[in-house]
Amino acid sequence: MNLIFKDQHIVMSRQDELLALPSGEQVADLEYTPSLIAEPGVTIFGFLHDTEALLAYPNLELVNLRHALNVLPDTLVSQVIRAQQLIHYQITNRYCGRCGEKTVLNPATNRLSCPGCRGDVYPQIAPAMIVAVTKGDKLLMAQANHFAPTMWSILAGFCEIGENLEETVEREVFEEVGIKVKNIRYWGSQYWPFPNSLMVGFTAEYAEGEIKLDHSEMRAAGFYAKDEIPGRPSTSLSIASRMIDDFIAKN
Ligand SMILES: [Zn+2]
Repeated sequence: MNLIFKDQHIVMSRQDELLALPSGEQVADLEYTPSLIAEPGVTIFGFLHDTEALLAYPNLELVNLRHALNVLPDTLVSQVIRAQQLIHYQITNRYCGRCGEKTVLNPATNRLSCPGCRGDVYPQIAPAMIVAVTKGDKLLMAQANHFAPTMWSILAGFCEIGENLEETVEREVFEEVGIKVKNIRYWGSQYWPFPNSLMVGFTAEYAEGEIKLDHSEMRAAGFYAKDEIPGRPSTSLSIASRMIDDFIAKN
């Protein structure tokens, strides 16, 4: 498999309207920066500097990773996410954040490290919570301001410094829709590469308060029975989608 990325896009080939990962032949002459870290099963692996280089290849295009994950075979999705995150790790850690020295790959650990202060540079993974809040047989669904008009989901938010995840759940739900929740329970988790999150899923029950939107973030929110769900997340691969399906199956 050949994986060449540009930020949150991936080089794919298009033939007869079908998108696929490119063959080695198709990308043989393409100028890209190879990944320092090898990935099993990936032959050509790196990132583009210059997207204009692609203009000379009529069958190749840069495809948004979210879209690519929807069209790739399910068996490849986690490896493509991992590869894109390895590239993201290398691009965002070219210099040591502590002393400013250029980082190098430590082949023993497959990690970037700093020759100046001799520290390993760990990948930055941002924990975030996502929560299915129920009130009886209804689920809290919301539309963030940046969602497309047909897209709805359950609430999610990044963990702040010093918080445990249950506190993130309570704070984010209260900030975004003004209600308090109780009985917070772990549901499952998913690595999510937009941009580098570990999504930790919880269920919770409505405790008190009226829905009051934070209009700087949210366009709409409400409790919906399973046959009234107003819209879906943008991809069925997301933990949000699986949690909504789980709610539907249990109610
Ligand atoms: Zn350093």
